[in-house]
Amino acid sequence: MTIKFFNTLGRRLEEFKPVNAGEARMYTCGPTVYNYAHIGNFRAYVFEDLLRRTLKYFGYKVTQVMNLTDVDDKTIRDSRKQKMSLNDFTAIYKQAFFEDLKTLRIEPAEFYPAATDHINEMIAIIRSLLDQGFAYQAEDRSIYFSIAKFPDYGKLAKIDMENQRSGVRIKTDEYAKDSVADFALWKAWDENDGEVKWDSPWGPGRPGWHIECSAMSMKYLGKTFDIHTGGIDNMFPHHEDEIAQSEAANSCRYVNFWLHCEHLIINGEKMSKSAGNFFTLREMVEKGFNGREIRWVLLSAHYRKKLNFTFEACEQARMQLRRFSDFFMRLKELKQNGVASPQFAETLRQAADSFKAALGDDLNISEAFAVLFSLQREINRLLDENQINRADADAALELFRNFDTVLALLDVDAAAEGKVPAQILELAEKRRNARNTKDFAAADAIRDELKNLGWMVEDAPDGGFRCKPL
Ligand code: AMP
Ligand code: ZN
Repeated sequence: MTIKFFNTLGRRLEEFKPVNAGEARMYTCGPTVYNYAHIGNFRAYVFEDLLRRTLKYFGYKVTQVMNLTDVDDKTIRDSRKQKMSLNDFTAIYKQAFFEDLKTLRIEPAEFYPAATDHINEMIAIIRSLLDQGFAYQAEDRSIYFSIAKFPDYGKLAKIDMENQRSGVRIKTDEYAKDSVADFALWKAWDENDGEVKWDSPWGPGRPGWHIECSAMSMKYLGKTFDIHTGGIDNMFPHHEDEIAQSEAANSCRYVNFWLHCEHLIINGEKMSKSAGNFFTLREMVEKGFNGREIRWVLLSAHYRKKLNFTFEACEQARMQLRRFSDFFMRLKELKQNGVASPQFAETLRQAADSFKAALGDDLNISEAFAVLFSLQREINRLLDENQINRADADAALELFRNFDTVLALLDVDAAAEGKVPAQILELAEKRRNARNTKDFAAADAIRDELKNLGWMVEDAPDGGFRCKPL
């Protein structure tokens, strides 16, 4: 089975063909570590996790690099405000970021290079761009990339270069499409940078944001690699500038597939730090949602569609996850023995194929979820009709475990085992015994006691019971 991705470069679906057979090398623009990441940022990282897990599901050996932007306009500005050294300041948010990744079950990348550890690599690229005439030093002693020297400039963001003014320069890391300009590769030190500076052949200063990603991707993945991802707002200028610098320096193609994730929005607007309309992951956890529920919400829409954040969606996620837990419990508790049915095996095989085909179709997660729901419905029906036996149930559980290597949501095994405290199980056991001896008054009293402890007990059709937190 093949995978197709929508390549932003060219704006069309293309079959994924890696540079080296069987290997997928991908670079994902990581966080700027000047604050706790918000759930909008995490939409991008959860999408990248889905991409990574899908590539592995299809058998690729994945090498993923996610950088940490620990020097740029924003980290310098805020570390100075806090009167902290840049390193001490960014260390707080680096650590928080890794904790958050765990909460959201995002699989670790192979490399997490920090920009401040790669200044020499950046200087080497800038030197090469100067030598080849793609860059120049301006009166302010900063080094700029001359976009007029690179005829392909604008190919990713589709900018019409004919009508651009030439020789205009911009020093800030972030700017809009209507201010296309020569961008800074190396920023000469000024008093706003405080203590932050490195020596270079062009005097003290610091790198521009864009050169950071070119240097770190090249170092760990080579001059041409397979996939580069980021949020859609990274496409311009960040990714456009990365292409220009890298392709000019190396005279070869930089990246084959560009994948961009649409925004998480709230009340019709992009969730962002600058607009102040954001929730950090930590805030969501304080509000009582867990990482699994938030992961569900962030994963539930196709990555190229805007995703509207609501608390109702978080409640929905909680409900769906509970339904899955109950469903797995039901399958685990099934006692009926018998021979696996060939018809049921075929149902599972078809579901497995459809799930994989959905993922291979540009990560069509809605379709993949639809396969899960419809299989769950079908199996519940068979359970209701007593048409399923232990061997079938085991095969079904195994398939859901397999799906969960990509989704990391279902927790097939945690759902049924080890989650109910021993005290609760003991009480539920007592209640069943009371019912079995027709002592309904005692049974009801124990039910109330369980309720006070925050648990509900339900009788299963096969004489067993299930405990659920209220
Ligand atoms: P930053 O830390 O600002 O560099 O952003 C880190 C990542 O989050 C980038 O890939 C951004 O494109 C992405 N991002 C920022 N805001 C959102 C949002 N509201 N929805 C989805 N992705 C976002
Ligand atoms: Zn980047």
